[in-house]
Amino acid sequence: MLDLGFSSVGFAKAEVLTEDLAFFNSWMAKGFHAGKAYLERNPELRANPILMMPETKSVISGLISYYTAETLPESQYYKISRYAYGKDYHTVINAKQKQVVDYIAEQTSSKNTRAFVDSSPIFEKAWAKRAGLGWIGKNTLLLNQTTGSFHFIGTIITDIELEYDAPQAEKCGSCTKCLDACPTQALAPYEIDIRKCITHLLEQKNEIPTELKSKVNNYIYACDICQEACPWNQDLQPTKEEDFQISSSLMQMKKEDWEQLTEEKFTELFQNSAIERIKYAGLKRNIDFVRED
Ligand code: SF4
Ligand code: SF4
Repeated sequence: MLDLGFSSVGFAKAEVLTEDLAFFNSWMAKGFHAGKAYLERNPELRANPILMMPETKSVISGLISYYTAETLPESQYYKISRYAYGKDYHTVINAKQKQVVDYIAEQTSSKNTRAFVDSSPIFEKAWAKRAGLGWIGKNTLLLNQTTGSFHFIGTIITDIELEYDAPQAEKCGSCTKCLDACPTQALAPYEIDIRKCITHLLEQKNEIPTELKSKVNNYIYACDICQEACPWNQDLQPTKEEDFQISSSLMQMKKEDWEQLTEEKFTELFQNSAIERIKYAGLKRNIDFVRED
């Protein structure tokens, strides 16, 4: 997997994540999931990969950094989250994981191996933690000493037994920088209220409360404020993944180009990007919400 561009890989024994399920259920009961229907479905399945595939013996987690050396120039005024600078990570990581699944089938006795990236009900962060790839920070993200929190997590379940990694200790200590930086107070230690999170508000279809206009810090797609504030996200090595680099057409956008964005330009900029999911109308709505006049 390292040859395919994963920066860290770890292995965990498949079992039921009882504590993570209890935490998830209590988080849902508070309504912090913003009524997202897909989160309400199959909570037991999330915590138990054996329900997803009865033959499962092991879980393999892999991280791929999306931290680019370049960011969009400040002169553009509008900002998008780093994770959406390049191609849609689902496509990029699915292609890599398919190679891993094929490799396992060829090289071992495995008859059942499946791969996921942010697409199935599985506790991806919890499995990555169990597989020794880091700890869950107070910002609710998986933190890794090499990639900080600017990584995607790929998860593979398989029917072969492996040598398992030991989980790491939590290293947030007394830090509260992410909590202090969040402009909407969406974070409490280890818990997020998605209803207040700018990332969610810019991705959903309902009207964005006008009082948040001064708090979105010019983001028009998702938000990186809590991640940028984290000490573990400073001085990171940039990703080598070509597909996550910023395209030259995105780098060349100017403030007025965003404000006059046409559907044609949207397609040129964001074909095969995660931003495609909110479509032209969604991004235009966000730009109109953020713009100064
Ligand atoms: S993504 Fe932005 S709004 Fe959401 S918790 Fe982090 S800082 Fe707050
Ligand atoms: S900012 Fe501090 S508290 Fe928040 S995740 Fe990073 S290290 Fe942990």
